[in-house]
Formats: sequence, structure tokens, C-alpha cells
Amino acid sequence: MIDFNQNENQRMIADMIRGFGAREITPFRKEWDDQSFFPIEVFKKLGQLGLMGVLIPTEYGGSGFGYQEYVTAISELSKLDPSVGLSMAAHNSLCSGHILLFGSEEQKQKYLPKLAACEALGAWGLTEPDTGSDAGNMRTVAKKDGEYFILNGTKSFITHGISGDVAVVIVRTGEAGDSRGMTAFVLEKGHPGFSGGRKLDKLGMRASETAEMIFEDCRVHESQVLGNVGEGFIQSMKVLDGGRISIAALGLGIAEGAFEASVEYAKERHQFGKPISSFQGISFKLADMATRIEAARMLIFKAADLKNRGENVTLAGAQAKYYSSEVAVWAANEAVQIFGGYGFTKDYPVEKYYRDSKLCTIGEGTSEIQKIVIAREVLK
Ligand SMILES: Cc1cc2nc3c(=O)[nH]c(=O)nc-3n(C[C@H](O)[C@H](O)[C@H](O)COP(=O)(O)OP(=O)(O)OC[C@H]3O[C@@H](n4cnc5c(N)ncnc54)[C@H](O)[C@@H]3O)c2cc1C
Repeated sequence: MIDFNQNENQRMIADMIRGFGAREITPFRKEWDDQSFFPIEVFKKLGQLGLMGVLIPTEYGGSGFGYQEYVTAISELSKLDPSVGLSMAAHNSLCSGHILLFGSEEQKQKYLPKLAACEALGAWGLTEPDTGSDAGNMRTVAKKDGEYFILNGTKSFITHGISGDVAVVIVRTGEAGDSRGMTAFVLEKGHPGFSGGRKLDKLGMRASETAEMIFEDCRVHESQVLGNVGEGFIQSMKVLDGGRISIAALGLGIAEGAFEASVEYAKERHQFGKPISSFQGISFKLADMATRIEAARMLIFKAADLKNRGENVTLAGAQAKYYSSEVAVWAANEAVQIFGGYGFTKDYPVEKYYRDSKLCTIGEGTSEIQKIVIAREVLK
């Protein structure tokens, strides 16, 4: 039975983020967005608060929380600045999550404590310039050379592709299109032959760094393989099953932020001698927003609950991600409409939600890919 009330840890996390955000995020978010500035120091501070190792067990220096707490942390951060929520999610559930799920005990001991404290920032590289949804046809290759692999190729669209200190990268070790032809490696910044590439100039999520990762005759010892050779793609699908819950939470935070700003504005803004909230055309938008946000929350908490219990979340995670992402884009659009001309300016936060929200229907599997996953599951 799912308990929809926030537990004590969730309330504590939400309060902590609101307090932290009022000092360290809200005053600066517009400048970071304008300048496409990645505020790495904020993540170091989030590390001190335990928010960069939310799901990492305490024995590896993490907070040892479950997915309910993780969802709360991402949605509260995303309400303040979705870019911070995105970077936090990529660090936690993609990079750290992959090592936690598939790393050896030695690899976990080596990397997880640093990642949990954000002494090291994490990156996770699957996507390439020519293969996104079709990741199984990736071109970055690793050729075996004795005890080493030689990596060559370029990953693109990687969150923390330049600033990441620890990177999990999935590359081809077998035939193109063979789901057993890919392998995951973990390596560190500064490894010879491995470098950050071009930083992408984006529509939204501008304070989250998105960049290329380049491999040029990069020699990596076989001890850096996560799990076994040939498991990289299958591992990635499992990592993304959990990761999708975090993008759903990101969408939830954006939708909630847009909704809360809209309620406040609709009560304050007067036209024709009345607050615009008294017009049915506006109040019905708020009613629809509140209802769809609640539905998204239910799907997310169901997926989080299944994940906490170690059950399969392929269907629930894809449904939560698909629905919540679409709600985020729709709610941000409604918010801009409620704010009218002011919604079109940078004086209010809703135009930023509008731009940032679009990432949710694209990253970690587009809405179309989620529908493919959902259809496959329901047609089984
Ligand atoms: C800000 C940002 C951060 C990101 N961070 C990371 C990261 O940290 N690590 C990482 O590995 N990747 C990351 N990504 C990449 C992201 O996961 C991909 O952009 C996404 O998977 C889509 O791939 P693509 O961009 O190549 O689009 P494509 O796969 O080229 O898709 C283009 C369009 O075709 C549609 N399409 C494709 N195949 C099908 C199909 N079979 N049926 C129907 N429609 C289809 C898609 O839905 C989409 O509408 C990030 C992207 C962004 C924008």
C-alpha cells in the first residue's frame, strides 16, 4: 500500500532545500541562465548536505535514502532551478547509480564516497552525435589490447561532459546493433586520451553543463570495466529505468513551480476591476494544472515505491516519465499564458520553466521512446 503522505525524511529534505535554495540558488538563477554558467560550487555544497549521494548506502558515504526521498529532493530543487535538478539527477542516478548497481566492491569503495560528497562530480555517457534513441548503434569503440582497451570516438549531449571528475561511458566492444556488443567503463578526468569537448548552447537548462566527451586512443585497463564485457547496453537500460523516475520528478518540480507562480499571480493581477483568478478561463487552467500535477505525482510515487521494493519499474518508470514530462511542458505553457505579456519577459520565472521543461520530453528517452516502452510492456 503506497502512503501518499510525505515521510519525515521527505519533509526534512524539502525544508532543507527551500532554506538552502533561498540563499544559494534563487538569487543567482537568472544570471546563471543568462550566462549559461554551470555553478559547480552549488553542487559541492549540495554534497555537504547529502544530496549528491541520496541513494548511495551509508557504508559508501551516502545518505542511504530510498526513491521517495530522492524524488522529493529532485522536485524541490527543480522548482527552484530545473538546471540544478537535472545536474543533480544525472550525477546521482546515472553516474553513481550505474557504479552502485554494477560496480565491483573495489570500484564502489573507490568512487562512491567521492561522488556522494561531490568531491567528484559524475558524468554518464551513452549518447553520441549520430545515435541517441538508437543508442545500440553507437560508434565509439573499445578495442582489446592485452589487459587494456583502446577507446576512440565522441559522446555528445553529456551532462558534465567537461566538468565531470568521474565518468561512466558505454562503448562498443562487439558488433553494431548487438545488445551484447557494448561495455561500460568507469574512468577519471585527466585520463590520457580522454577529454571534454564542445559545450552545447541550449534553449533551456542552461545552467546544467551539456558537452561532448572525446576519446582519442584512450588506453583503459580492464579493471575499469563495470560488470562484464558485453553487458554495457543491458546495464544502461536498467540504469535508465531508475533514471526515468528522476526525470519524472524533474518534470513534477517544474510543473509545481509553474503552478504555484500562476496561483499567486492570478490572485494579484487585476483586469476589468477583478483578479484574473475570478475569470473562469483562468481558474479552469489552474484546476487542470492542479489535477494533472497530482496525477503525475501519483505515477511517480508508484514507480518510486516499486523501485524501493526492488520490483521491475520498466513500465511504471516509463509511464511516470512520459506523463510527468508532458505535464511539465503543458503546465509551463499554461503558466506563461496566465502571466500574459509578463510571462513572456525574463522578469518572472515562468518563461524559464517554459524553456527548461522541454528537456523533460527529450532527455533519458524521448516521449516517443517512452510510448514504445509502454506499448511493448502492455502488449506482452
Ligand atoms: C540537456 C540534455 C542533457 C542530456 N544528458 C545526457 C547525459 O548525461 N548522458 C547521455 O548519454 N545523454 C544525455 N542526453 C541525450 C538524450 O538522452 C538524447 O538527446 C535523447 O535520448 C534523444 O536522442 P537524440 O537527441 O539523438 O534524438 P533522436 O534519437 O535523433 O530523435 C529525434 C526524434 O525522432 C524520434 N524518434 C527516434 N526514434 C524513434 C522511433 N523508433 N519511433 C518514433 N520516434 C522516434 C524521437 O522521439 C525524436 O522526436 C542529454 C540531452 C540533453 C538535451
